[in-house]
Order: sequence, then C-alpha cells, then structure tokens
Amino acid sequence: MINLEISQRHEETFTQVMMLAEHMMRPYSRKYDKAEHTYPAEMEEVNKLISAGRTSATGKPKGSLPEGSVVNGGNMGSVIGLFGLCWGDVGLFLGMPGSGLGNAAITAVGTPEQIKKYGGRYAAMCITEPSTGSDSANISTTAVLDGDDWVLNGEKIYVTDGDRCDTLVVWATLDKSLGKAAIKSFIVEKGTPGCEVTRLEHKMGIRASDTAAISFSDCRIPKENILGSADIATDAEGRKKAFGGVMQTFDNTRPPVAAMAVGVARAALDMARDLLREEGIEVCFDKKPTNSGAIEAELAQLEAEWQAGRLLVLKAAWMADNKMPNSKEASMCKAKAARVGNHITLRCVALCQSLGYSEQHLLEKFARDSKIIDIFEGTQQIQQLIVARRLLEKSSSELK
Ligand SMILES: Cc1cc2nc3c(=O)[nH]c(=O)nc-3n(C[C@H](O)[C@H](O)[C@H](O)COP(=O)(O)OP(=O)(O)OC[C@H]3O[C@@H](n4cnc5c(N)ncnc54)[C@H](O)[C@@H]3O)c2cc1C
Repeated sequence: MINLEISQRHEETFTQVMMLAEHMMRPYSRKYDKAEHTYPAEMEEVNKLISAGRTSATGKPKGSLPEGSVVNGGNMGSVIGLFGLCWGDVGLFLGMPGSGLGNAAITAVGTPEQIKKYGGRYAAMCITEPSTGSDSANISTTAVLDGDDWVLNGEKIYVTDGDRCDTLVVWATLDKSLGKAAIKSFIVEKGTPGCEVTRLEHKMGIRASDTAAISFSDCRIPKENILGSADIATDAEGRKKAFGGVMQTFDNTRPPVAAMAVGVARAALDMARDLLREEGIEVCFDKKPTNSGAIEAELAQLEAEWQAGRLLVLKAAWMADNKMPNSKEASMCKAKAARVGNHITLRCVALCQSLGYSEQHLLEKFARDSKIIDIFEGTQQIQQLIVARRLLEKSSSELK
C-alpha cells in the first residue's frame, strides 16, 4: 500500500538541510544573483555536508524488494532534501557541484563500472540543440564508432552548469534516418579535445548557475562511454523501438526537478507571510472561510496547490523507491509542481506588492528563479502530452 508518510530519518535530514539552506545558502542568494556566471565557491562546503549526510544515511533499497514492500528510500530522501535546498536557493543549488542532471542519468542507466568512475563527478546534461528542444527525437548531434572510439559532432545549447561541470552526458544519434531508436547518450569528460564551451547565456533567473553552449568537433571518447547498449532495438516485427534507455533518465530527473519547484514555492509562501506580518497583516488559517480576508483566502488556496504538488512529487519518488514504473507520475508531478510553483511565487509577489517586487527582499528573485522549472526537463505542455498519452494509451506518433 502506498505510504507517503515522512520517516523519522527523512524528517531529521530535512531539518538539517533547512539549517544549511537558511544559514549557508540564503546569505549568498543576492550576491550570486547579481554576479551572474560566478562560481559560488561557498556552496562547496554545503555540498560536502550534504554528501556526508548521504553517505551516513542508509536505507536505499538494493536489488528486488519483497512483495508488498513499502519503502521510503533513496528517491524519497533526495526529493525531501531538494525541498529544503531549493527553499534555500534554487539557483545556488543548481550551481553547486554534484547537482547536475547528468549525474541522475549516469545513476539511472550507467553500468556499475560507469557509476563507480563517474557517479561522484559533476555531470551536466546536453540534449537541447539550436534546432531541437521539446522534439528531442529530432537531435542532429552524431556519434560514429571508429575503432575503439566514438566520434561526436554537433552543437548543444542551454546546458545548465555546462561550463563549471567536469563531465557531460550528451545525447547523439547513431543514425538519424532510424529516428528515436538510434538516439543514445554518451559520457564525455570535459577537456576532451574537440569539446569546447562556446558561449554563456545571460538569464532571467537561476543566475547563480551557468548556462552554456558547447560544440563537439570530431570529439573522440572511449567506446565504453556509451550509456546503455549501442544496439538499435527492434520489436518482434523488426520495427525500430522508440527511445528506451535515454528516456528512462527523465523518470529519474523529473521528480527532483519538480521538487525544486516545491522548495522555491515554499520559500515564497513563507517569505510572503513574514513580510505581511511586518506590515501588520497576520495571516490566520483557522478562521471560517466566511470570516477570512481576501489575502488569507488566497494564501489558503496557494497552500493547497503547494501541498498537491508536493504530494505528487512524493508519490513519484515513492514509486521509484518501490521499483514501480513511474513515467506518468514523474510527468504529472513535474507538470503540477512547476505550474503551481510559477503561480505561487508570482502571486506572493503580488500579495506583498512593492515589498514583493523590490530587490530589498528575495521574493522577486524566487519568482524569476521558478520560471525555468516549468521549462527545462520538458515544458508544461510536454508533460501534459506525456500524461495524456499514458492515460489514453496512445503512442507518441498517435498523440503529438
Ligand atoms: C535556463 C535554461 C536551462 C536549461 N538547461 C538545459 C540543460 O541542462 N540541458 C538541456 O539539454 N537543455 C536545457 N535547457 C533547454 C530546455 O530543456 C528547452 O528550452 C526546453 O526543452 C524547450 O525547448 P525549446 O526552448 O526549443 O522550445 P520548443 O520546444 O520550441 O517549445 C516552444 C513552445 O512550444 C510548446 N510545444 C512544443 N512542442 C509541443 C507539443 N508537441 N505540444 C504542445 N506544445 C508544444 C512548448 O511547451 C513551448 O511552450 C535549458 C533551458 C533554459 C532556458
């Protein structure tokens, strides 16, 4: 039976993370929002403390679980940690070593050798290209096997932490004419000849993280750096199968990204109540709806939306911990949490008016930072499309 109760161990972790967030992240929020692209060196200490906590916390399920198991394990722990870190500052979190989405990809589909070698690295994810975003089946970067090396050619854009990371997970096609089935992902170590950061983007939010364009020009990487099999899978009738391995990654990365939205939305709700209190408006939720003011009524509604997003994130993580397929739930939680995250942060700015809009406080930054969460790792519209396909049992060619 499903169990979304937070275990005592995870409660303790959350309390510790919130302390780090408050005392070791928030003091630097504005500094790195202003100093765009500057590496937030202070976050290395936060990362060390988090890694130490992760090592000491056990409980991630290993191997197959007994029937009927109910586990609040590693995935649950990681989204709960992210609620706290992104309450602290989602931009600083994204700019912190070890936060790269490439790390999740390596953990999800890497071999034990790849996980051992690259699991602890700082890995960014390179999918988007100048002519390919949501339509990720359309990518043009190529990978050709030449002797013991893969040779990569192409251009990737909007790579979060693409400059400061030390490893890249790159999506490339083995043969564009074969469509999705030929798309594979590859581990590329930064500094490999032929791999070059060509540009950094100036952005609206998450300015503490860098966002890079990266070119691959006859970039040779070892044959064993492919993630998953090099075979182009076919079904019983010999038709090429869709995506498979690379898409699995999203089931692992979407709940954590949704958790970022939950964290930053919580930050906005808490700050809005503090600012309103300073202005003499005490928000009280235990009045009857007929007796509450407009601000209280709206904040109560925002709290309910926030809770709905949070619960969907916990459910997707719980399913992953219990080794249940969670593609639909991963997209559901990303769609809901990111959408309400955008709405909550902007409404909190509006409810606090000039205080919300002023740089004197971080509310306006939370609103800017939250926007990207509804875009990367699949936009709102793409998540809804995936959920619809799953509910209606339609393939991607039947429902575009
Ligand atoms: C700050 C930032 C960081 C990023 N980090 C990364 C990263 O680390 N790695 C990476 O690979 N990419 C990254 N991206 C890229 C991001 O994933 C893409 O921007 C996103 O997937 C959308 O692609 P696009 O911008 O090409 O928009 P498009 O795909 O062109 O979409 C434009 C609009 O059309 C809608 N749309 C598209 N197709 C459909 C459809 N079938 N049905 C309904 N609506 C549709 C979209 O929802 C969107 O509203 C980042 C982007 C930004 C801005």
